[in-house]
Amino acid sequence: MRSLEQPNGEQQELLVFVVPAARGLRREPLLPASAALLTWGVRDVIIIGSGCAGNTAAIYTARANLKPLVVIGHEPGGQLSITSLVENFPGFPEGIDGPDLVENMKKQAEGFGAEYVYGSVEEADLSKRPFRLNIDGEWHETRTLIIASGASARWLGLPNEQKLIGRGVSSCATCDGAFYKDRKVIVVGGGDSAMEEALFLTRFCTSVLLVHRRDHFRASKIMLDRVKAHPTIKMLTNTVVEDIYDIAKNEVTGVKLRNVATGEQWDEAVDGFFVAIGHIPNTKAFKGQITLDPDGYIVSQGGARTNIQGVFHAGDVQDRTYRQAITAAGAGCMAAIEAERLLEAEGH
Ligand code: NAP
Repeated sequence: MRSLEQPNGEQQELLVFVVPAARGLRREPLLPASAALLTWGVRDVIIIGSGCAGNTAAIYTARANLKPLVVIGHEPGGQLSITSLVENFPGFPEGIDGPDLVENMKKQAEGFGAEYVYGSVEEADLSKRPFRLNIDGEWHETRTLIIASGASARWLGLPNEQKLIGRGVSSCATCDGAFYKDRKVIVVGGGDSAMEEALFLTRFCTSVLLVHRRDHFRASKIMLDRVKAHPTIKMLTNTVVEDIYDIAKNEVTGVKLRNVATGEQWDEAVDGFFVAIGHIPNTKAFKGQITLDPDGYIVSQGGARTNIQGVFHAGDVQDRTYRQAITAAGAGCMAAIEAERLLEAEGH
């Protein structure tokens, strides 16, 4: 412990950190005692998120010898890890399974020296550099930050929905579809995710009911056409779910549906309920510091820049338009290059 005289004459106590020299970490000898840091030094780059965007940012920053720390987050591998075959990522003419693709990216980044840590950001102080992040109770410091924390599944908000998660309610057909062999299920949504889930579920289910609240679809034409042509899938448009049964039995047995055009209501017996209605960006820890739009997506200041110098965005946490594996990967590359250039300009 040492003391340092402040401009106002007060003595501030300082902890002296003696840490082993680690490759890629620069030692900051004096830190305020109040900071209670458990970090091993100031990082050049911390990347939040281990999906396509985060892993690509890790490959680039690791290859630039910046020894990035990747915070894996509560959904390791991001959305690709719960996807089946990815047919549109360039370079894989036969397609590649989402989990394999994202694992390959991680291995590639680790090969260049990226470190991965399990955990999520609980709190962030971006008011000055180095930025401070509380990752599962441990504080870490970094000169630059790449937020690639993605977006999580959106739910309908029906009273029984959360209570029946894992008991027939799911947001991931790839994860849970196999439990519904020879069963009847419902999929809610009108985007590509809903189409993909419905098609995937036909591998197991005898009947898939696709319910969408409008008669226009956000889904791409190719996916929509496949769904329309599939004999196992029945589509209901202008239809919303009013209730999920049966909370007393602690499992999904059916739903109450309503046609929004006619007002007609009726019950359908189903064994599984899959929600595929989009996602919510994972930006809670940065609220009030990073400029977000009303839905919580990061507002880009051009390129990969946020409103805070040194903090960059990558992938679905900012992109509500394209949201593809390849665009997320591209965004991760952009963020990495911006972080690298800033550090270089600052002499690090
Ligand atoms: P999305 O395109 O935003 O579609 C969400 C759907 O859910 C919309 O049809 C929306 O209805 C509906 N919805 C939203 N809130 C609802 C509510 N409370 N009740 C009922 N319905 C509700 O989301 P996504 O399908 O997850 O796709 C996201 C992005 O990922 C897209 O860019 C998509 O192309 C991409 N993606 C690509 C693939 C692929 O290429 N293989 C696969 C999956 C996803 P409204 O239309 O009425 O708003």
